[in-house]
Amino acid sequence: MKNIMFIAPPAAGKGTQAELVVEKYHIPHISTGDILREISKEDSEIGEYVRETMASGKLVKDEITYQLIEERLNKDDCKNGFIIDGFPRNLDQAIEYDKILEKLGYEIGNVILIDIDKNTLEKRITGRRLCENCNAIYNINDKNNTPKVESVCDICGGKLYQRSDDNLEAFATRYTTYLEKTEPIIEHYKEKGVLKTVDGNDTVENIFNKIDEIIK
Ligand code: AMP
Repeated sequence: MKNIMFIAPPAAGKGTQAELVVEKYHIPHISTGDILREISKEDSEIGEYVRETMASGKLVKDEITYQLIEERLNKDDCKNGFIIDGFPRNLDQAIEYDKILEKLGYEIGNVILIDIDKNTLEKRITGRRLCENCNAIYNINDKNNTPKVESVCDICGGKLYQRSDDNLEAFATRYTTYLEKTEPIIEHYKEKGVLKTVDGNDTVENIFNKIDEIIK
């Protein structure tokens, strides 16, 4: 199947949609945010840098992301398709990504833009909870997406936590960063003829159905 890339502002639901794609199509989900969150737990200089940068809502240095993306995409499980989420985040990363794909012999595939209002995002950001064990995503502000038992993951029983950057202050920085740095890559993919847009102001299920139509 074709590779999939998600582009969306923070808290638009790309992680949730990626989980649904994984469930149906059994391809790996590569999220630079998830990989960086793991690095941020390390008791090292880089761990501390990533932890502080992520909590502020700013982007980490491009060079850090290039190496981890190339290493991850080079693994065997990516040969039959993958979802990339959270990368590229700016035009330099998009240009570098083109080079990495060429080097590894991969196609860009479908680039899916989840288009969504800022007000909806603000509501979602404060309600988002993640499982510290399996990374499953919930939202306590969305009655269709709350865990059955408060603070406990439905899937694995792990403890739920709130991301350090899921507050309105960090959101403001992340949203401005999205407009300034990430939106310009939309043009890059429009010119390549691979961009598909999905309306994100809808239920998780309806958004997934639209994404599934594109994948099929
Ligand atoms: P996400 O989970 O995609 O919302 O990403 C959370 C945070 O991780 C971002 O606000 C950045 O600090 C960092 N991050 C994730 N992906 C990238 C990337 N491609 N380039 C730089 N920083 C990133």
